Formats: sequence, C-alpha cells, structure tokens
Amino acid sequence: MNHRITPLSAGLYLVATPIGTARDITLRALDILASCDLIAAEDTRTARKLMEIHGIPLGDRRVVAFHDHSSDAAVTKLVDAIRGGAAVACVSEAGTPLIADPGFELARAVRAAGLPVTAAPGPSAVITALSIGDLPTDRFAFCGFLPASPAARSAELVELRDLPFTLVFYESPKRVHDFLIAARDALGGERQASVCRELTKKFEEVSTGTLSELADAFDGRSVKGEIVVLIGRAGAVAVVDADIETALRQAMQTMRVKDAATAVAGAMGLPRRQVYQTALNLKDDHDDGHTDTGDRDS
Ligand code: SAM
Repeated sequence: MNHRITPLSAGLYLVATPIGTARDITLRALDILASCDLIAAEDTRTARKLMEIHGIPLGDRRVVAFHDHSSDAAVTKLVDAIRGGAAVACVSEAGTPLIADPGFELARAVRAAGLPVTAAPGPSAVITALSIGDLPTDRFAFCGFLPASPAARSAELVELRDLPFTLVFYESPKRVHDFLIAARDALGGERQASVCRELTKKFEEVSTGTLSELADAFDGRSVKGEIVVLIGRAGAVAVVDADIETALRQAMQTMRVKDAATAVAGAMGLPRRQVYQTALNLKDDHDDGHTDTGDRDS
C-alpha cells in the first residue's frame, strides 16, 4: 500500500494526477485522495479508476462532478462544505488542476471565503514537454489552447511573435497540422519547434525541426493522441558557425575586433563572449599570415 490515511485539516486540496502513466502520482497526492472527505472531479469515472488502480478505498465518501461549466451554486456548495470542516480534493481529468483545466474559480472562491487552499503538485503536460522538447527552458510562456478559428488563431500567434520565450501550446491532434502551418506563416518557417505527443505513454514521440519542416512532416499524417507544441523564442534562429564567421569577417573589415563581435552578437542574438572568442580566433588565423595590427583588445 502506497498511501497513508492522515488527518487533513479543512480546506481545498488541488491534486495533480498522471497525464499518462498511472504511477506518475506523488505519495502525498495518494495520501490526500485516501484521507479527504470529498472529491471534486472533472471526470468522476477517471477519478474513481485512479483510486482503484492505487488501491484507495472510496468507502462512503462522495465523488462529485466539478468542471468548467459547473454553476456558481456548485462552487458555493463546495465552499460551504469546507467551511463546515471538510477537506475537499479537487482533481482534473489529467495533470494539474487549473492548468487549462477547471479549478480556478473554485480556488478563488475558497480563498475569498478566508479558507485554505493548498496544492499537491505533480505532473503537467507543459513541464513534461519542456523537459524533453529540446528547446530552451530558462524562460517560457504557456499559451494553452489557441482559438480554433483560423483568423483568431493567427491573430494570437502574431501577438506572440516577438516574445523572447519558448512558447508552449496545447493542441488537438486533428488540428495540429493546421496549427503548424499557421505558426509557420505567423512566426516564420525557420523557427525551431517540437511536437510532443502522448507524453509518458506507450507511444510517446517528440518530433523536432523548423516550423517549415514540421508543417511538411505532419502534412497528410493521421495524428492520434494528446499533443503539446513548443516553439523556439523570437530571435533564436539556428545560426551555424560559418554564418557567424562570415558576418565577423565582414564586420572586422571596418571595425575593431571588440566592436565587430558586439555588433554580430547583437544581430544574431548570440552571447557576446562566444562571438568575441570566434572573432579572436579569426584574427589570430589572419595575423599568422599578415603583419600584426596590434588589435587584441578585450
Ligand atoms: N491540466 C493538464 C496539465 O496539467 O497538463 C492539461 C489539461 S488540457 C484539458 C489537455 C491537453 O493537455 C491535451 O489536449 C494536450 O494538449 C495536453 N496533454 C495532456 N496530457 C498529455 C500527454 N500525455 N501528452 C501530450 N500532451 C498532453
């Protein structure tokens, strides 16, 4: 048995559940599901099944449906239950509640009533995709699902175009090809991207390439499963060493090494230190066959 029955104080517990593999759940999440008084679930059948897999008896506790379309009265009932001393666990169908899933209005109402809200963190498709998506993770923007209408989707993509963050989108398998075309057209075909499919599941797959390459690769393909699309940040177009050297040679015809490195690094969105080192190497190669200009500044 992996769970413990522990006394829980009254409050709302936002419990993350697996996005694929059922064992991707924390021990604390199991403890809360085993010990709470009431479970508010986006999908009551999925919640019951998860508890069954992990051997958590429901007993005479209730699992009530709670989703995005739940009424204000449903929120009030849950707040009242917590006020009356209940520990209420909120689970979405998969992953972390509130992340493109229900829970926000409820959490806000509980907090507004002066009652405690706590999270039992765990899986989320955003973070899982970033972990294996082969794009920078130091700064990212979660964009959720874009609108299905082509005009509204393109307008939102254009708004995101210049953000210097890896962009994370949730998308349905039947729209992923259209999404890639729209992203290619709005953001430019050279941007690096990843299509992360069926994360943590048997047919997990990560396809990487430029938006142009991925739009071609998904053309005519019948795609199944759940999908996260990552798109590389603005100004992070892949630059090959030869491009840097060409730009530096050109800049060094009219500028000192240091200034040329600064200009090229800025234009290409690269770290100055790295470009400066390349510039120094080029200058050394050049000087080996020519008179020293004395220009080894720092
Ligand atoms: N709350 C969830 C979370 O924390 O990631 C997200 C729920 S949202 C309604 C469902 C979307 O998340 C799917 O359409 C897909 O875009 C993404 N997703 C969820 N599970 C996934 C998986 N195993 N692989 C890839 N994407 C997934």
